[in-house]
Amino acid sequence: MSDDHDSPETTRFADMALSDPVLKALSELGYELPTPIQALAIPHLVEGRDIIGQAQTGTGKTAAFGLPLLDKIELDKAVPQLLVVAPTRELALQVCEAIKGYAKHLKGLRVLPVYGGQGMATQLRSLRRGVHCVVGTPGRLLDHLDRKTLKLDAVKALVLDEADEMLRMGFVEEVEKIMEQLPPVHQTALFSATMPRPIARIAKRFLTDPVEIRTKSKETTVEAIKQFYIPVTGEIKKLEALSRLVETEDFDGMIVFTRTRVATVELSDQLEARGYKAQALNGDMSQQIRQRTVDRFKAADFDILICTDVAARGLDVPRISHVINYDIPFDTEVYVHRIGRTGRAGRDGKAILFAGKRQQRMLSNIERATKKKIERLALPSGNDVKARRIAHFKSFLTSAIESNELDSFRSIVEDYCRETDQDPMSVAAALVHAYQLDRPFSVRHVQIEDVERPRKTAKSKREPVSERPRKTAKSKLEPAPDRPKKPKKSKKPKAPMDVYRVEVGSDDGLEPKNLVGALTNEIDIPSSYIGSIRVGTQHTIVELPTGMPSDVLSFLKNVRVCGKKLNMSHLGNERVPKTASSRRPRDDSGKKAPTPRRKKPKTKPRKKSPS
Ligand code: AMP
Repeated sequence: MSDDHDSPETTRFADMALSDPVLKALSELGYELPTPIQALAIPHLVEGRDIIGQAQTGTGKTAAFGLPLLDKIELDKAVPQLLVVAPTRELALQVCEAIKGYAKHLKGLRVLPVYGGQGMATQLRSLRRGVHCVVGTPGRLLDHLDRKTLKLDAVKALVLDEADEMLRMGFVEEVEKIMEQLPPVHQTALFSATMPRPIARIAKRFLTDPVEIRTKSKETTVEAIKQFYIPVTGEIKKLEALSRLVETEDFDGMIVFTRTRVATVELSDQLEARGYKAQALNGDMSQQIRQRTVDRFKAADFDILICTDVAARGLDVPRISHVINYDIPFDTEVYVHRIGRTGRAGRDGKAILFAGKRQQRMLSNIERATKKKIERLALPSGNDVKARRIAHFKSFLTSAIESNELDSFRSIVEDYCRETDQDPMSVAAALVHAYQLDRPFSVRHVQIEDVERPRKTAKSKREPVSERPRKTAKSKLEPAPDRPKKPKKSKKPKAPMDVYRVEVGSDDGLEPKNLVGALTNEIDIPSSYIGSIRVGTQHTIVELPTGMPSDVLSFLKNVRVCGKKLNMSHLGNERVPKTASSRRPRDDSGKKAPTPRRKKPKTKPRKKSPS
């Protein structure tokens, strides 16, 4: 049987026979509607059917299988009942975190990630304590099965996530061995972006009368809109990229799309904290407030509107010159709908998509559906932003001079110059310096864009699987494609350092390289600027350059490493040597960054100080 429709737009989570605790978690996450793959898969999984889903990462497939299968778990039996097999450590951790979020109100439900590279002791301890759901990579799962530390006799449902990736990485035999150990009665959900022959064979051998689910996208053309993408990943980097666009693009109205209602509010708060006027528009707001917000946007009371897809339905505001796809949409139709908010009433429009490393396939799908190449847009450099800020400052000066309200101030300057024998130019320069302390002209140097691999064009096909080189036996066991580069452990940074504590330690499997990897990925800090790292059993101490902005610190509190939140706290700078060297971060101009100012006792996000 095959379920092969267009996105069923009207389905709601509440109509899908999901439990109240799961619905509550979704509402708190701010999910408005099921994505197409969720709308198609959930009813069949709730019903107990096996499914084969052709869906990629980023389409919402974790919730598509997670929501219905979590509901089948008996919480009073702490034995593995849901098993998810994923090709890589990264995906296993990502799925694990998502499942924990969906299971937030399923009291007592325990989820364990099981992957190579993490110490066995932690995994064994958790398995002995009892878990309900295991998410793992094939090699390590098989290892536990061989040692009899993991038993599958109570498993009710198995999920094979990114099955074609597992094939590509040479894991087919391991997957089959795992599947052979499952009890005769269980449900299976197999997800794969493509269906090469060995995967189809697995499906035929192990699945029972599966429903095949595919989301179709209509081909559409979008003419008057110039489309671009910027390769950027991670919330901090996306925020930085958006800030640069806001400062350098010539726009009238800008609409920014996020995936969830929660994200609309968070992003508008973050933009406000950086001094940009932005408003959220989402389904949590009453109709009246939504209408008022749209009216104010139309009247140019503010210029940046942060929306969910549902809230933006039917939005017709001719002044929207820019659409920013801050979170990549789940399918191509949503993309076309989003960018159709610009280029209205015969005007030109510009659509910019943030598409990170893992989203290149969706990007190609969009190109195919819109029959247009989406060009890469070079993000403005720190120097571009600086030039814009200086230009703005000059026009601010011009209007201040033209305002004719300067007489009383002029006499202060004249008195001062007379009393101190200073020349007016020095006085003006000092005032400019003071002015920009709160709104710096310079921009911190950060690597925002992903380092890209060559992208497949819309037309290019996937290489036939049989022609890909197989992995060696060693790499088969423990794949870690995105493993961070070797940290230089002993190299002491010379910039002034502060000391921070994170609540993850060796008991959680943390090694210094994990922390270096997370920090270099999540905030734009080169590894050479990370100071010494002391890993304790329950926590870790790390030195980082002085002057971390408070929004970065709050962001880092929620970053997870080895499956645990960092919960980073600032311990002070007692251990910083007094003779801090002169090596400091450089800005884009290539000059030395200014000496960081002393941290105020309590740092608030600075007004009007983007970046
Ligand atoms: P996935 O394809 O499962 O990796 O999901 C991609 C992203 O979409 C994740 O950040 C999810 O939190 C988010 N997501 C999944 N389903 C929905 C939904 N129905 N509404 C909004 N966001 C979602």
